[in-house]
Amino acid sequence: MTAPAWLSQGTLVLASNNKGKIAEFEKLFAELNLPVDVIPQGQLNIEDAIEDGLSFVENAIIKARHASKISGKPSIADDSGICVPALGGAPGIYSARYAGAHGNDAANNEKLLADLLPLRKDGTVIEGMFVCVLALVQHAEDPLPQIFQGIWQGEILDAPRGENGFGYDPLFWLPELGISSAEMSKEEKNKISHRGQAMQLFKASLER
Ligand code: IMP
Repeated sequence: MTAPAWLSQGTLVLASNNKGKIAEFEKLFAELNLPVDVIPQGQLNIEDAIEDGLSFVENAIIKARHASKISGKPSIADDSGICVPALGGAPGIYSARYAGAHGNDAANNEKLLADLLPLRKDGTVIEGMFVCVLALVQHAEDPLPQIFQGIWQGEILDAPRGENGFGYDPLFWLPELGISSAEMSKEEKNKISHRGQAMQLFKASLER
């Protein structure tokens, strides 16, 4: 097996300023024990990219290129969100700013609950999925970004449950476990989540 070229650079920039994601990635990257320092872009004073793509894949690549361009280092970005088929896939790529302001988790959750209220006739179950797309670029103009995608199926609760996690975790119900994702520890969530699944694919790519 030949080690990927970016591993020899000593640093991998994590293209996210989302505290909840970064906390999960710290544990996920620690398990991989890579011979590189994984540095969140905020530590390099890199601000958020303008996400003007129409898909998770496009936005993940935009974010990774942005961080790589400013840092001059290889970069990995996570674009993620929650998709509800009954809402045509919304909030989707707009998950972080569903209610307007970027990153207002409480307002985003309230809007999702309000949008779903008319669809909950006679106890109708509302299915949803968390999606995570990781894009890895070796440099800002990399013509061949590596993409790793995870999808976590569940249901959308009609009221928040649990104190852990971030974003839409209190509304995401795992029927087979009988808990919401905000009732899981980071370790439990990372084992099965959209982000954990995408990281497993990333890990497998290093072993090829
Ligand atoms: P991004 O930073 O533009 O990718 O936006 C991601 C948004 O999706 C976050 O702000 C959350 O609202 C939501 N999201 C993504 N992953 C998770 C998760 O694991 N739990 C809860 N919400 C998430």
